[in-house]
Order: sequence, then C-alpha cells, then structure tokens
Amino acid sequence: MSNKEVVRGSVEFCIVCFGDIQYIKMGEDGHVHPDVMNKGNSFDIVGGYGSCHDSCLFEAFICDECLSKAIDEGKVRILNER
Ligand SMILES: [Zn+2]
Repeated sequence: MSNKEVVRGSVEFCIVCFGDIQYIKMGEDGHVHPDVMNKGNSFDIVGGYGSCHDSCLFEAFICDECLSKAIDEGKVRILNER
C-alpha cells in the first residue's frame, strides 16, 4: 500500500527479529515494487487521536515467520485471508 519509491538494492528490516527483508526484482529490467518482498510484508501504522503520534503515518515491515507467529499468538487480527 506504499507509494514510496524503492531504491534498487535497498533492504528493509523486520520490526520483530530485525532480519533482512529483500525486495524482489521483477521483469527484464529488474525493477522493484514497494509491496513485493521476499517473505516479507509492509504495513501502515496510523497515529490516532489520543496517541502522541496523532495524525502521523508510519510504515513498518515484518517477515513472514514473525507475522505467522504473531497471528498464531493472537497478536495480529486477520481482516482478510485468501
Ligand atoms: Zn522477523
């Protein structure tokens, strides 16, 4: 859901385990898309009224392994699942 521009070759870090999350190169030109990562996920954090981060928008990353564990432990709510 990000509209940021990804710098080719850049890497993100999982918010839980700090492991590397690499973008997947696509097409013949090897471009990368901000929502296409190897075993990783991005998510937005929206600061709501009452938070010291009110009206702020953040982006964070979590690897598949940590996300699966958080779901199993009930720490992440499933809103849609394929
Ligand atoms: Zn992780």
